[in-house]
Amino acid sequence: MKANVDRDACISCGLCESVCPDVFELDDESISVVKVDPIPSEFEDCAKEAEDGCPTDAIHVE
Ligand code: SF4
Repeated sequence: MKANVDRDACISCGLCESVCPDVFELDDESISVVKVDPIPSEFEDCAKEAEDGCPTDAIHVE
């Protein structure tokens, strides 16, 4: 499983980092970046939770 963040869509709300800090973090510009590729299986559920919760649908998990 992989995650991608659309930097243009991210509004820096921080939800993904809160929900799944082992996969997402906000960078120096407060835009979410993916820390791991591929996503370790133990973090797949929270990555999907972040995808579902992102208010701008900036996260795509596949
Ligand atoms: S949840 Fe979405 S909008 Fe919020 S910081 Fe993460 S990628 Fe950006």
